[in-house]
Amino acid sequence: GCTASGVADALRAVAVVVAEHRAELIELDRAIGDGDHGENLNRGFTAVVAALDAKTPETPGAVLKLVATTLISKVGGAAGPLYGTAFLRAATSLGDKSEVDVDAAVAALRAGLEGVQARGKAVAGDKTMVDALLPAVAAAEQAAGTEGADLAAVLTAAADAAAGGYQSTMDMVARKGRASYLGERSAGHLDPGARSTSLLLATLAKAAR
Ligand code: ADP
Ligand code: MG
Ligand code: MG
Repeated sequence: GCTASGVADALRAVAVVVAEHRAELIELDRAIGDGDHGENLNRGFTAVVAALDAKTPETPGAVLKLVATTLISKVGGAAGPLYGTAFLRAATSLGDKSEVDVDAAVAALRAGLEGVQARGKAVAGDKTMVDALLPAVAAAEQAAGTEGADLAAVLTAAADAAAGGYQSTMDMVARKGRASYLGERSAGHLDPGARSTSLLLATLAKAAR
């Protein structure tokens, strides 16, 4: 299982990856939104690292709760409250467990997805982060049912499915968020939030290896 410090390290790795992909996320959002997604997330995860540096909480759930409150207060727009809700629901799902095992991780991912959908009302095919997160959760659940599956295997399955889900947003017409203002013209572009979700899960999977 993964302890609080392991979860904190994984989130520090996410912050590095978000910083590395800041320009890419900005470009994606410039095409079908307002061009701030990379900056929003970079500001948020920079603040997450500062909060973890100040004091790393003692349980994985408390770490995720700190991430949630930090993202909600530092990231504006659509993605801040959505990612904030995802991390908050995941934190609640973990409760006061001292380690995250396969079952806890899968339940936390499922809770995060449900939080995003409760908050943003997006369903599959709306061209949002849900199109990365939904197949990721399904893949994680399936992988967890495989004999001998460990945390790395489950998160890698989730990350691979998220990457595929991200690619599938190319042909979709946006029905939620700013991109929906473009209607049919949103097709032919990839969704920035699906990209950031895919990056986040890929980084968590790598950290678990
Ligand atoms: P804003 O659109 O307010 O500038 P961001 O650019 O940070 O916010 O985030 C945009 C991303 O948020 C989109 O690419 C999409 O994936 C996601 N998004 C927007 N609205 C929703 C929603 N209702 N449900 C799920 N995801 C959404
Ligand atoms: Mg934006
Ligand atoms: Mg914005």
